[in-house]
Amino acid sequence: MSELKLCQGPSCHQYHTKDRLKGPKENKTYQTRRRSSFYYGGNNFCSFQCYNDWFNSFGNRAIDHFGRTTEVKHLTEENAWQKTYDWNSNDDTVYIYRNGITKEERPITREQYKDNNYTLNTS
Ligand SMILES: [Zn+2]
Repeated sequence: MSELKLCQGPSCHQYHTKDRLKGPKENKTYQTRRRSSFYYGGNNFCSFQCYNDWFNSFGNRAIDHFGRTTEVKHLTEENAWQKTYDWNSNDDTVYIYRNGITKEERPITREQYKDNNYTLNTS
């Protein structure tokens, strides 16, 4: 069995659902959900509700910690690159960097596509 993750929602155990009620017969408690993967918040939350609960509790602190946007940003040719993918005639996935302003496309590897630090954007 693969390692189970715990939902990071601070109130996950407070939602009364059958699947959260666990434990020995006479001592069941509502518990934080455990799953091999989650659909919300970068694989950290079992539901949008739990994701939202986390943000309501910690979101402002997280934004302040990682840097709050304090000035308007402008889309320019230098920062308009977006990763995308398509299929070629052989039905193979091809990964592309596409500039949202110039419409220029450049092929990238699957590794570059998945690498969150890889970017062509310079501003
Ligand atoms: Zn949850």
